[in-house]
Amino acid sequence: MPSAYAILHGLCEDGGLYMPEVLPSLSLEEIQALCPLSYAERAARILSLFLTDFTYDELLEDTESAYAPDRFPLGATKIKSLSDMDVLELYHGPTCAFKDMALQLMPRLYLRAMKKCALDATALILVATSGDTGKAALEGYRDLPNIKIQVFYPTDGVSEIQKLQMRTQRGDNVSVVAIEGNFDDAQSGVKRIFSSAELRERLSRENVHLSSANSINFGRLVPQIVYYVSAYCDLLNEGKISLGERLNVTVPTGNFGNIFAAYVAKRCGLPLGTLVCASNDNDVLTEFFRTGTYDKNRPFFKTVSPSMDILISSNLERLLYLISGAERTRSYMESLLADGRYTLSRSELAAVREDFFGDCANEDETRATIRETFEKEKYLIDTHTAVAVYAAKRHRSVDKARMLTVSTASPYKFAPDVLLALGQMPKDGADALRCLSERTDTEIPVPLASLSTRAVRFHTVTKKEEMEKEVLVFARDQ
Ligand SMILES: *Cc1c(COP(=O)(O)O)cnc(C)c1O
Repeated sequence: MPSAYAILHGLCEDGGLYMPEVLPSLSLEEIQALCPLSYAERAARILSLFLTDFTYDELLEDTESAYAPDRFPLGATKIKSLSDMDVLELYHGPTCAFKDMALQLMPRLYLRAMKKCALDATALILVATSGDTGKAALEGYRDLPNIKIQVFYPTDGVSEIQKLQMRTQRGDNVSVVAIEGNFDDAQSGVKRIFSSAELRERLSRENVHLSSANSINFGRLVPQIVYYVSAYCDLLNEGKISLGERLNVTVPTGNFGNIFAAYVAKRCGLPLGTLVCASNDNDVLTEFFRTGTYDKNRPFFKTVSPSMDILISSNLERLLYLISGAERTRSYMESLLADGRYTLSRSELAAVREDFFGDCANEDETRATIRETFEKEKYLIDTHTAVAVYAAKRHRSVDKARMLTVSTASPYKFAPDVLLALGQMPKDGADALRCLSERTDTEIPVPLASLSTRAVRFHTVTKKEEMEKEVLVFARDQ
């Protein structure tokens, strides 16, 4: 099965996730050969190892436009070296969060996949979002030919800044709808739409093909492998590591997509050491890596790092597959569905723990990490990154290998909570941005600074029962 098919369909017919039959290998010589190249060139080379039905030239054209300076004015990634770790900043894209790294590229791969699979239709991408994904998908798909994107966000549980980011979205092929309720209402609504044979039938009569953009799509995973390899090259270029030196990595984790990409990079040959999986109060993964039991039957906490408030980390299924094979993975996924839990065998747990270590930060520890990092290092981090920095420091105290900590969002994206962590009075919206800039003597990122002057284009607020209707109206809209 070619990778174009996996990108187009997202999920296998039996509900499983797509994975390559064999992982490609990346030698130290090949890593060294990537060092003088640009990010787009490195990306095209690495992607071509996985997407073998795409040509190098096709991939390079897409990576060059995805990571172009009009979208990433400061470059695709940056590394900030602190006293005890290097921080890989992945938030310099159009929405100021790391999801841009994949969602700027995946829509272009998707367009090519449509051509390769001879799908001559309009693709309608539906997204339910609690914040970051919706905006990043809107920016990624906007104004691409033969594609429309519709995003549903809940009225409750999305920050003012995030709402404004979505309601001012540009593009002729976009629609943004607020759903009365919480994230589950929006998500279950979208799931209902995807599983409605009748609606699909009606849409296909109008030559519209429904699709999703969520993080289980293989097309979102591969672009994330790139930045781990690229960061290793950057550290080599700066003389901070030597070729072959083991580099530990800490990733603030929710759906397990980002850290799984690091694991794939390691399995392919990138000299990574321990992968520290950092969670917030929703510490289901911490327990999993400590005990081998995944148990989602636990209280759900709303935290200051909302993009990590997750009880089912979907991409973990891919790790299970690589460790235990397809049959055991299927039975674990069945237990998860039926009982909300499963337990690895002792040997499987031992295998997982050779690569992973789980740790978590509570709300006070997260805020204290923001404050201390700013006071001691004059470096401002967001709430998600703070969870990772906390875990990375703890791991450094037992393992002195060089640590790369992944930073997933601009502190301005979560300005109210970052301000609180710095001991300021709570503020919201544009006030919070201004106040954070004054307090820390840092600049508001351009995409957020222009928000308050942009016109609000989307006003629709609807009940979850009306979502199908909104989809049909938008599908027919020219
Ligand atoms: C999505 C997100 C995460 C979690 O990434 P996963 O790939 O789902 O583990 C962490 N931080 C931020 C800011 C995010 O938007």
